[in-house]
This record gives sequence, C-alpha cells and structure tokens, in this order.
Amino acid sequence: MAGRIVSETLTKLSQMGDVTLHEPAGDSPYSERKRRARKQEFNLNDCIAHLSTPRGPKAVMKSMMTTACERNCHYCVFRAGRAKTKRATFSPDEMAGAFDTLQRAKKVDGLFLSSGIIKGSVTTQDKILDTADIIRNKQRYRGYIHLKIMPGIEYDQLYRAMQLADRVSVNLEAPTSERLHKLAPKKIFVQELLRMLQWAEQIRRDRPQERLASSVTQFVVGAVGDTDLELMTMSDKLYAQAQLARVYYSSFSPVPGTTFENLPPSDLLREFRLYQSSFLLRDYQWDVEELPFQLDGNLRTDIDPKQAWADENLAHAPIEIMQAEREQLLRIPGVGPVGANAILRARRRGKLTDLSHLKQIGIRTPQKLAKYVLLAGARPARQRCLF
Ligand code: SF4
Repeated sequence: MAGRIVSETLTKLSQMGDVTLHEPAGDSPYSERKRRARKQEFNLNDCIAHLSTPRGPKAVMKSMMTTACERNCHYCVFRAGRAKTKRATFSPDEMAGAFDTLQRAKKVDGLFLSSGIIKGSVTTQDKILDTADIIRNKQRYRGYIHLKIMPGIEYDQLYRAMQLADRVSVNLEAPTSERLHKLAPKKIFVQELLRMLQWAEQIRRDRPQERLASSVTQFVVGAVGDTDLELMTMSDKLYAQAQLARVYYSSFSPVPGTTFENLPPSDLLREFRLYQSSFLLRDYQWDVEELPFQLDGNLRTDIDPKQAWADENLAHAPIEIMQAEREQLLRIPGVGPVGANAILRARRRGKLTDLSHLKQIGIRTPQKLAKYVLLAGARPARQRCLF
C-alpha cells in the first residue's frame, strides 16, 4: 500500500516538472538561471536541481506542497484563477515519502520545499513543517533542507522552520511597499514579509547556542519600474540588519494567462549586474552610495560595476599594491578576498614589481588591474594589444 502511494506521488511529481523554475535556490544563482528553461514535457529529473548549497554541491529535490494558490501575484504562474495551470497537491506523508524514496535511491541529497497558499499562510506553513518534521524525525534525514516561509506566519512556526532547515527563504519580491503592491496586491510588505526576516534574525540572536537556519530572500526584477538603487538599498539593509546569507534577483519573465503577460521580459544582463553589485555590498563591504548608479537610478549593464567605479576613481589615482590596506586592495578590479590575502602574504616575503609576480601568486588576470595600480611606485608595463 505504502509502495503504491509513493509510486503515485512520484508519478505526480514527474508530471509537474520543475514547479520552482523561477526560484533560484543555491549559491550560484546566475549559473542556475542559465540551466533553467521552460519545457512542455517533464520527467522526474525535472524536479531535481543540481545546486551549490552551503553543504557543497548537491542534487536537490525542488517541489511544492501545492501548486494551487488563493493569492493573485500578477507575475506568478500559480496565481489564483489562471486557467492554464495544472494544479497538484501533496500531503506531508506523500511528499516526505517521495523524498525518502529518491534520497535512498541516491538520486537526491537535499530538499527545497515551497508551496502555493491554500486556507491561509499558517495552515500552508504547517504542511511544510509537518513534511520537514517527518523527514528529520521519522526518516532521520540529516542532510540539506531549504524551506519557504509563507507570508505572515506565526513566530513559533518560523522558529520551528529554522530548527528543521538549513536555510529558510522569505521572498520580499519588491524593494518597497509601493512596488510590492503593484506586483502582488495581496501581500503586505512590512507585516507579512519584512517582519519574517527581522524575526529570523532575532531568533538566531536570542539562541546563539542552537543550530538554526540562515535566511535568504528574492526580488522579482524589472516588472514594475523598480530601480537598481532601490534594490541595492534594500539588499544592503537586509545584509546589515537581518544578516541575510543571500539575496536572489530574478528577472521578470511574462507568463501567459497572467495580468503581466504582455509586459516585456527584463534584461538578464541586469540580473547579472545586480548579483555583482550585491556581492560588493555583502563580501567587499561597499556602501550603496559607492555603487556607480546612473541618473535614472540604474547601473550600467555594459560594464562590471566594480570596473565602472574603478574607471572613475582609480584610473587617475592608482592604488599602490605594496602599501594598500586590504580594504583598498579589494577595490581593484580582478582582486577578490583570496587575491587580496595573497598580495598581503607575498608583500611580507618581498617586493611585487611586475604583473607576472601577481600572476604567480594566483591573480588570474593581472592585465585587468594594470591601469588601476602602482607596483613599487611605478605603473606596471602593460602588454600591447596586437590586433
Ligand atoms: S503567493 Fe506565491 S504561489 Fe501564490 S500567487 Fe503569489 S507568488 Fe504565486
């Protein structure tokens, strides 16, 4: 009997395909996006995503408790009333059973679980929690779990999700309340979404001895006039005040049968530049004001934001590699945290006077930084371009 239920669930899962197509879930979201594509026919492999997770690269089962939803977010394939959407719903036992089968067969080692909202957020979240509880406590699975947090759930539910999962996501969708209203009229920015992220941080702070999930969020980019300045300002606040592990930027792509079906898709290069800028805020401690925004509040898409900043600020005031602080080194295009540490170590051993010395210590493209630096007081010799 149990075997038949699992087999039926796996069939249902395989017919649904990648229901979380629009939700990046790993630590390399831009490369994940390149692998995503909408298909007409599905098999079980479509529910399995190969992700870079905080526990390393994993084959993760990505699914939803239900693809039915009572909300009406304008961009969403699962919005209430969209006739073309095939709806499927799983009980916690079914979902946990399917995961157990795939995990024992070594097809997956990780779970990303989301859901449409039916009978309210609290009831829906309970189903997600019940599933994770079965997987953790009955099936004794100790691997990677990422759970979606429904808008406006109770504090204790969030705490339980953070005990069960490695990572929880609360998707803000938009950088301001006004933009959210245009995207998802039934979601409430502060009370239902921002507060969840604030609570998550408070829960971690109040219980430093417990192993609790990190939190992430996602923005839908480019459907309702949001600017890069708005997105980066909110991202910066979230990194600083809610200790977010990651912010995802998902380029808007119109879905037939939704209110936004006739809007143009958002530029994928913009999404890429947003990720680059977001890393400057999170990993390089840049301030939002330092990002090279144009007058319309957006970043250029034709150039890496770090390089655009360096062209304006370093081309005429190069950084002396032999004397710069680590923070200054991190301003140089082509130098990341690993490269900056290598420079500091190499300086203690002797002088760096040539671009080839930088290559030797692991800076992959020393030519890229030539116009922004001095090596022992002199501009480095740059290779001539032959063509
Ligand atoms: S609540 Fe989630 S599943 Fe429902 S319409 Fe909005 S984005 Fe889609």
